[in-house]
Amino acid sequence: MVELRSVSKTYTNGYNALLDVSIDIKKGEFLFITGPSGSGKSTFLKLLYGQELPSQGEVIVDGVNVANLKGDRLSFLRRRIGIVFQDYKLIAQRTVAENITFVLQAQGYTRKEIQRRLEPTLKLVGLSSKADRFPDQLSGGEQQRVSIARAIIATPPLLLADEPTGNLDPDNSWQVIQILQKLNTFGATVIVTTHDEQLVRRCNHPVVQVKNGRFYRK
Ligand code: ATP
Ligand code: MG
Repeated sequence: MVELRSVSKTYTNGYNALLDVSIDIKKGEFLFITGPSGSGKSTFLKLLYGQELPSQGEVIVDGVNVANLKGDRLSFLRRRIGIVFQDYKLIAQRTVAENITFVLQAQGYTRKEIQRRLEPTLKLVGLSSKADRFPDQLSGGEQQRVSIARAIIATPPLLLADEPTGNLDPDNSWQVIQILQKLNTFGATVIVTTHDEQLVRRCNHPVVQVKNGRFYRK
């Protein structure tokens, strides 16, 4: 599903965020990426959806080299990737329901299909009673769950979650991980970055440790 071949990423300011990373992530895998702040976790995810391009090496997602994709073909790849952003990226002027369904509207789903998907997605993330609220009327954990709902409503085969439990207490963190695991059992490949060593230990999934831009499979 995801393959990196000797990938390095140097930002324009000369900073080496990733160094000679090679990894093969199989379809249907649930993988944790752990490592200290600044080690390169978000950079890795950004390479997978083409937000950043590698300085060296190749990033292959779903059989295609991301660097060769432009315009419609890059949009097509991104539609197949659900992304939970580290900073949520919710639209303040839109309700919970609108934030979640925005992607589907942009992709031309019918109103009926959008409604059909919205209810079970809200239920899955425990926000059924908050569909009409605005982001600033939610707790941090609820906002995080809105961003998860938005990432999963189109049932993407690849789900990238950047610190999806970063601002949650242990109970809420565990709930979020269970949602991601459920999607994984439905067939999605799931990649989750986290600082939370305890959470990682509680789950029985493979782990990659990132240190100074290098990847180590545990
Ligand atoms: P955190 O756990 O704090 O989210 P991270 O492991 O996700 O950290 P990255 O965001 O991948 O870390 O950043 C890796 C390094 O690259 C950091 O030192 C960061 O300052 C640097 N970096 C990230 N984005 C850029 C950019 N656009 N330009 C220059 N340097 C950047
Ligand atoms: Mg990060």
